[in-house]
Amino acid sequence: MALPKVGWIGLGIMGKPMVRNLLNAGYPLVVWNRSRPAVDLAASWGATPANSAKEVAEQCEIVVTMVPDSPDVQQVVLGPNGIYEGIRPGSVYVDMSTISPMVTKRIAAKLAEKGVQMLDAPVSGGDIGAQRGTLSIMVGGPREAFERCLPLFQILGENIVHAGEENGLGQFVKLCNQTACGLNLLAMVESIALGAKAGLDLEKMLAAITKGAAGSWMLSNLGPKVIAGDWEPGFMVKLQQKDLRLVLEAAASLGLPLPGTALVHQLFRVVEAAGLGEKGTQALAHALERMGNFKIHPDEG
Ligand code: NAP
Repeated sequence: MALPKVGWIGLGIMGKPMVRNLLNAGYPLVVWNRSRPAVDLAASWGATPANSAKEVAEQCEIVVTMVPDSPDVQQVVLGPNGIYEGIRPGSVYVDMSTISPMVTKRIAAKLAEKGVQMLDAPVSGGDIGAQRGTLSIMVGGPREAFERCLPLFQILGENIVHAGEENGLGQFVKLCNQTACGLNLLAMVESIALGAKAGLDLEKMLAAITKGAAGSWMLSNLGPKVIAGDWEPGFMVKLQQKDLRLVLEAAASLGLPLPGTALVHQLFRVVEAAGLGEKGTQALAHALERMGNFKIHPDEG
């Protein structure tokens, strides 16, 4: 059976490798990105370039977005020349960005007026997971739409969970994920800070603790970057802050205290205040360096 034509909007750190994996799997793709160079790159891999989100939606039966935040998704879907204007009844719209569950519900209700089903399908696994096609994908929305998109999700990820038929449930699962990620990040940088201050061989320390009870994705994947002084982003601090804000807003609406998450959010503010918002989340180590008045890499400026 012919693969459905897929539209893709948002070709950043995550969108680019995800599109590449779909092209390699044989999916016909139509792409649009706010700035042009990423569109040209995807076209060089075999995607069809478009001039707007509307133009993408007009041509495709599944339309995916991978952009930063709630206002960006709103603009791309409901703004001028947006998906809403072009999408045909019977198509499915999939938002793989991490955004507010409440905004997700509102967008889904608007699209339903046009006979379009929506899935919220945020992901976890970082840029590495996007490149390797090993993402975790947490999906909210109608089962029928989920089953239609499952073959596509199976190219992009390995652990695919349908959280339930209600839109926003995928985003809520992702917020639980980000709560755990934030605290694991803090655990990772605190252990390296202690090791550095004590003058340990940090590579040996990491080798010893990564496989034991302290092991985590953060220790295995971002620990070596901290030790190497590599602050380049897989996931940017400013996006992590967006996610922690979404977690804390959701928790506030439920009357739930999340003290650890609030602490990590404040510590990341130290990193942002130092002008490092576009560095990777491993830059949380800088907050500890500032408070402890020390350097993990004494030779670093
Ligand atoms: P990114 O590298 O900043 O890419 C964002 C993309 O969205 C860019 O292509 C950007 O276009 C486009 N964009 C931004 N604002 C837009 C707007 N208002 N209208 C249209 N397009 C817009 O971000 P990313 O790391 O790929 O993250 C994308 C989403 O995935 C976020 O929700 C993030 O939280 C989530 N996520 C990221 C990771 C990760 O490790 N990076 C992991 C899991 C989930 P330009 O090229 O013109 O800037």
